[in-house]
Amino acid sequence: MVVKLSPSPPAPPHSGAQAVPQGEGNFPEPNAPTSPLPAGEGRVDMAAANPTWSEGRLTLTSDAVWAALHEVMDPEIPVLSLVDLGVVREVTVSGDVVTVTMTPTFSGCPALVEMQRLIEVRLLALGAASVAVNTVLAPAWSSDWISDEGRRKLKAFGLAPPPVHGGDVQIMLFDVVRCPRCNSDDVLVRNTFGSTLCRAIYYCNRCQDAFEQFKPL
Ligand SMILES: [Zn+2]
Repeated sequence: MVVKLSPSPPAPPHSGAQAVPQGEGNFPEPNAPTSPLPAGEGRVDMAAANPTWSEGRLTLTSDAVWAALHEVMDPEIPVLSLVDLGVVREVTVSGDVVTVTMTPTFSGCPALVEMQRLIEVRLLALGAASVAVNTVLAPAWSSDWISDEGRRKLKAFGLAPPPVHGGDVQIMLFDVVRCPRCNSDDVLVRNTFGSTLCRAIYYCNRCQDAFEQFKPL
């Protein structure tokens, strides 16, 4: 595996939306603090999140598409949406034609085709007439793009979240991994590849049980 590092990786696309603590599956209130991101970039505005009908035609908004993508779960980690995972880079809406640009977690990730299918199914159900899902590989996806909400969900799911490393290889390789069950750092790495490429297997000496970590990338 080639680990690409850059001194200042791009900001996660949804850091603004994650600045406000959220309940499960809830989105910020419309009066939430203004996102530092440009309008439409990762902002979820509930007032605009539902498609509206005008003059007998369905009007799709990018906010409605983002909200729908919040409901599309990662095929490998079903508690995490593709937006939580940070793989959705851009949404453009032109009439009832939607284009979604995504960056897969691993370029060879077998879940990519399934992700594209799930996005298409969800957005057609939302009312899009056609859906294109484009893939961009640069800049490479970073586990730093997993939202805070996503990290909470990973831990609750029993997967240790990756450290936020900002491209620092020291943090990436040597950050303390904690057991998602008991929070102990008395853990041993057992196998750098778990049930999928994205996971490593650890053993918790306190729980005397194995757990998986979503590997930093
Ligand atoms: Zn433990």
